Amino acid sequence: MLVSSNTLLKDARDKGYAFPHFNYWDSNSIRAEIAAAEELGLPVILAWAEKHSPEIGIDDALALGKYFGSKAKVPVVLHLDHGTDPELVKYGIDNGFTSVMMDASDKDIEENIEITKDIVKYAHTRGVVVEAEIGHVGTNETEDNSMYTEVDAAVRFSKETQVDSLAVSIGTSHGVYKQGTPKLNFERLVELRKAVSIPLALHGGSSSGDDNLEKAVNRGITKVNIYTDLANAALFEAKKDYHTETEMALAQREAMKKLAIHYYEVFGTDSYCYQILK
Ligand SMILES: [Zn+2]
Repeated sequence: MLVSSNTLLKDARDKGYAFPHFNYWDSNSIRAEIAAAEELGLPVILAWAEKHSPEIGIDDALALGKYFGSKAKVPVVLHLDHGTDPELVKYGIDNGFTSVMMDASDKDIEENIEITKDIVKYAHTRGVVVEAEIGHVGTNETEDNSMYTEVDAAVRFSKETQVDSLAVSIGTSHGVYKQGTPKLNFERLVELRKAVSIPLALHGGSSSGDDNLEKAVNRGITKVNIYTDLANAALFEAKKDYHTETEMALAQREAMKKLAIHYYEVFGTDSYCYQILK
């Protein structure tokens, strides 16, 4: 069944664990992610990112998400990840995403607040929750373009926009790291967690290192975004010598499922979140 992420993330914040957020880009990935959640009996956050539009457009992603999500045996949050176009985000809200991210983090804070505020109003009257981002989680293409989230800015932003959760930048990046695991700013995370009462999300979880992620969760992160590791797990299988395409697809699904289960364990979801399912 499709649900909102509100109760899930609040529960995680209260008890000190996190939910993995898995991006999906085709039917194999979404089925692997749901299979992992069903095997553990845990809710799952499934996300389609606007940047994946060339591979799978919003309508196809919604069709897949609603179909597999509503027949899943566990609660499923259907999330629109990194929506940069407010019109597309509104379209997503109207057509079945139960959670959206409005990402105006490349704008200055005033403009980010205005754009996010507008989406929050639109989403809340329609029962949809909103994540936004301040600071900037960059990619690994250019080494130095991630900026740490400022505490004062996070407080002001969450108050003025009434956003439901906030993606913060503490040193992770999207994609694969070129020089080993990243160094995260845990002090900043602790300050942010203390100052801001809404759940905090960490983007660029892939290949950040299990120790780093566990520490981040212990210090206040309640959602960790995972994409690249799943895509790489599938790619790794594709390089093996399978005899048929279906054999390869099944192996890829199994590999992605295993990795998803691993992240539930790293984030403590499997130990702490049973109560909310009852
Ligand atoms: Zn992201």
